[in-house]
Amino acid sequence: MTSLDPALRPRLPSPLRDVADDRFERHGVRLLLKRDDLIHPELIGNKWRKLAPNLEAAAGRPLVTFGGAYSNHLRATAAAGRLLGVPTVGVVRGQELADRPLNPSLARCAADGMRLHFVDRSTYRHKAEPETLAAILRAARAEEAYVVPEGGSNAEAVRGCTALGAELRGLADVVAVACGTGGTLAGLAAGLGTGQRALGVPVLKGGFLAADIRRLQEAAFGEPRGTWSLDERFHFGGYARTTPQLDAFADDFEQRHGLPVERLYVAKMLYALVALTEEGAFPRGTTLAATVTGRPFPAPPAG
Ligand SMILES: *Cc1c(COP(=O)(O)O)cnc(C)c1O
Repeated sequence: MTSLDPALRPRLPSPLRDVADDRFERHGVRLLLKRDDLIHPELIGNKWRKLAPNLEAAAGRPLVTFGGAYSNHLRATAAAGRLLGVPTVGVVRGQELADRPLNPSLARCAADGMRLHFVDRSTYRHKAEPETLAAILRAARAEEAYVVPEGGSNAEAVRGCTALGAELRGLADVVAVACGTGGTLAGLAAGLGTGQRALGVPVLKGGFLAADIRRLQEAAFGEPRGTWSLDERFHFGGYARTTPQLDAFADDFEQRHGLPVERLYVAKMLYALVALTEEGAFPRGTTLAATVTGRPFPAPPAG
């Protein structure tokens, strides 16, 4: 019962594809798409890179993890549980959700066998504190479970994401990724070669993420690694928020490039790259790699 289980076999390294887009070409910038969304049909994108080492560490124990009502991480964990025959418990932010019909994302988790446990927002906010965590696990009857933190980001996950950087060594100058918890960026930056840098686009409002990323690297490697920065201007109001402008951008990108654009994260990162290129942030001759960390959910209709 490890990540080498046939049900979890990944497509790695993930494909790297050149795209022709005049918004980059006229600034002498080359755009590549790093298709992490193709790593695995159900543990999509960075979720495979972060979960696989944790599934190995859990060694078949039940898993408990945390997320919001639309969490890609909860869905990936639930799918992993079904594929491996491992029980999963999802601690969901928002007690009020317990009394409503499940949204499609949580319904998918439940259909995959995840037991959902709803907690109020204040408890959820304090879930990393040992006493609050213990109380949540007790109430969720998950005291024996292997705990994967929110978004799947812990030291194992960060080390797992170094492979993303290693796969891109020598292939791009700047590698962009959308950030939730920052775990993927922390590992990506550590895996890149000299002269390369990682650019994170946070999708949450807040300005706390740089400190979180330093902490995650400290936990994973005992020291800071790699060259990275954040551009905090492209959250579009915060997590799961969007604007008509962002929706139009994502629709257009899908049409131009035949890429299904995940809206919570990937759309904001791609928008940021176009905006930064138009601002002249990248010298002519720069090769950008945009990490496609996910796929839309629910899947868009075919055709
Ligand atoms: C979870 C997720 C992210 C954020 O990853 P972090 O490691 O939490 O920063 C980015 N993109 C997609 C599509 C995701 O599902």
